[in-house]
Amino acid sequence: MESILSVRVLDAPFHIDRPFDYDLPSHVGDCPRGTLVRVPFGGGNRPVWGVVMGEGSPDEGVKRKAVISKLPPRFSLSQEMLDLCLFLADYYLCTLGDAVRCVLPPALLSGGGMNIRHVVRCHLSLSQEELDTLLAGKGLRSDAHKRILAYLAQHGATLRDTLTEEVGVTVAQVKALLDKGYLTYTEEEVIRNPYATYAQGERDTSPIHLSRAQMAAYERLSDLYETHTAKAALLHGITGSGKTKIMLALIDKVLEEGKGVILMVPEIALTPQTVHIFCSRYGERVAVIHSSLSAGERFDAWRRISAGQVDLVIGTRSAVFAPMPNLGLMIVDEEHEHTYKSEQDPKYHTRQVCAYRAQVHGAMVLLASATPSFESYYKAKRGQYTLVELTERYGGATLPEAQIVDMRKELRTGNISPISRTLFRALEETGERGEQAILFLNRRGYNSSLQCKNCGTVITCPHCSVALTYHTSPHPHLLCHLCGYRSAPPSVCPECHDKKISYVGWGTQKVEGELQNQLHEMHTMRMDADTTSGKQAYDRLLEEFREGKADILLGTQMVTKGHDFPHVTLVGVMLADTGMYVNDFRASERTFSLLTQVIGRAGRAEQTGQAIIQTFSPDNDVIRLAQSQDYCAFYESEIKLREELCFPPFCDMVQLTLTSQDEARLSKATKAYTDHIVSLAQTEYSGLALQMFGPMEAQVYKQAEQYRLRLMFKCRWNAQTRDLFRRLLTDGTGDRMVSIAIDVNPLHA
Ligand code: ADP
Ligand code: ZN
Repeated sequence: MESILSVRVLDAPFHIDRPFDYDLPSHVGDCPRGTLVRVPFGGGNRPVWGVVMGEGSPDEGVKRKAVISKLPPRFSLSQEMLDLCLFLADYYLCTLGDAVRCVLPPALLSGGGMNIRHVVRCHLSLSQEELDTLLAGKGLRSDAHKRILAYLAQHGATLRDTLTEEVGVTVAQVKALLDKGYLTYTEEEVIRNPYATYAQGERDTSPIHLSRAQMAAYERLSDLYETHTAKAALLHGITGSGKTKIMLALIDKVLEEGKGVILMVPEIALTPQTVHIFCSRYGERVAVIHSSLSAGERFDAWRRISAGQVDLVIGTRSAVFAPMPNLGLMIVDEEHEHTYKSEQDPKYHTRQVCAYRAQVHGAMVLLASATPSFESYYKAKRGQYTLVELTERYGGATLPEAQIVDMRKELRTGNISPISRTLFRALEETGERGEQAILFLNRRGYNSSLQCKNCGTVITCPHCSVALTYHTSPHPHLLCHLCGYRSAPPSVCPECHDKKISYVGWGTQKVEGELQNQLHEMHTMRMDADTTSGKQAYDRLLEEFREGKADILLGTQMVTKGHDFPHVTLVGVMLADTGMYVNDFRASERTFSLLTQVIGRAGRAEQTGQAIIQTFSPDNDVIRLAQSQDYCAFYESEIKLREELCFPPFCDMVQLTLTSQDEARLSKATKAYTDHIVSLAQTEYSGLALQMFGPMEAQVYKQAEQYRLRLMFKCRWNAQTRDLFRRLLTDGTGDRMVSIAIDVNPLHA
């Protein structure tokens, strides 16, 4: 008898994202919950992907469509993963399809089949006698054929690729022997693993010797782990306190128990050096996941993990979805990093997914940072997380001395260079001692903008509402950092046609030029989005700097993250003010964290470090507290403000963004939509505590020809609130030219 399946279609838009019933023809075979199927959908019966939710209802008189085909069971969504997708869809208000596509490797559901790579192995199918006759007699005319047979006789079954290479023959020549029946082929699946060679290298399983402070921290975490129930801990350790070693010790323990571990790091910290530490310790049963893997490599990592061949997954944000069957521990290193929040639907936060999976597995979540997010530190302070703190650097190293330089004074006294006299002298001295320096400037390009001296017009991108940045290499041009638009620098102001255009502010290219002019005996290496297209370029620059091929590493945020360079004794922050005065309640938190992290790069070994912070606002509290690297004092003062003004972690925030190419329609639709929200909030949802702000223009109002208006809400993100927003998204804006997107607890608000 045919059965009926309840299927969720992955391409269903939000307002019809619900189960549909399909007939299951017997030739398709069994389809338990979680099976991925092809089904016809919509008026045109276009074949689309769907996931089986269970049995459908035998509704008489309803005409049902039939399932076309299915993927083999080993590619099904596990019970845990399907439930996780349902959770993501419910919590972040995306479609189930968005959630499923997020947890599965893209290659699994791509159009071109399963993307499994096969290799051919050749087996000799001759007896010794037959072989001898062939090799001795005239049965084989070609010498190549003889060599192939001789090789197989000596080495046994061999991969065809190896055979052609070792014997120096073509695939056609091997095939000729196959046709004669002298050998047979078998096909084997191969796993693409770009890190396989790491695991085959020399193993380092030396015991970890922890300092006393590290040991105390480890023991607390280890005791917590042993409760074998869902729980979370926050490891708050100053820069250089040796958090990595504690993680290694804990990973050792969990793996020994036969449980799986997922270790997440920010993309930028996932360098070959990091991977090497783990692969040399844990060998073959490690999988690495990050965004520059090819689709096939990603798919194969996923296959190894779901087949239970992996105990430790190291990766960026999306590694949180690694289908480990037996999870014991999830670590989020540098947990304050913004990359842990996804910007695509579902706009999940990694911590949230960890918490969910910890419940399912009775596993532990370990968050680690020198500057924890306020959300996490607040929870730790209130006892929801176990708080473990490390207040000293490993090996008696001290935190760098940080000094603030007033750039207004530099200007007043005639120094218009981006490098203050203090920093200049410190760089010289560092060079003389044969040590290295890191300079951080949060702005790439040459100048930050072009401005007309006559009318004040700033040259902006024609597609976005931001200033264009002036770049000098490979040749002078203006560039939009949002949409990539390029143009030649104008010779006159586009508004008033005056010729006096000034080049304002400095970016990394300009500072690089300054350093070359003023400190020519020191070699500077620039690292920003313009010099590191591709992960390899980035890794190579870091490696070269570590090897001492440059004295100064100058760059954007990339230079601030988790790198451990033993010879760096000077850190310079070129302009601490950038980012501080943006209209965002997290601006201070971000500035503090960034400054602390970058200052922490200095003096990590025997040599003490020095940091110089250049700023136009030397009296600013955030900069002062970052100078003393006192997270706790900063937290205490800032959290009071958050509480008074009611910002997270004291409430949840929800952001709705309405987008259209047509500015007039956007404004009209937004007005109507806002009225709709107000009326719902006053009637059906009058019990909800909800505060609405806006509509207002997005920070960047126009981006790539799209205008964007925002509504912001403060609320508690509970089931009832979600219900209201689900309703709002289902209703839509009423204008199909105006789209709407939701972001729950966005990072920029
Ligand atoms: P954090 O991540 O906390 O800023 P790291 O883990 O990078 O600090 O450690 C700082 C430096 O101290 C590294 O060079 C690390 O190898 C070294 N280190 C830390 N703990 C130990 C230890 N127990 N044994 C040997 N070296 C250690
Ligand atoms: Zn643009």
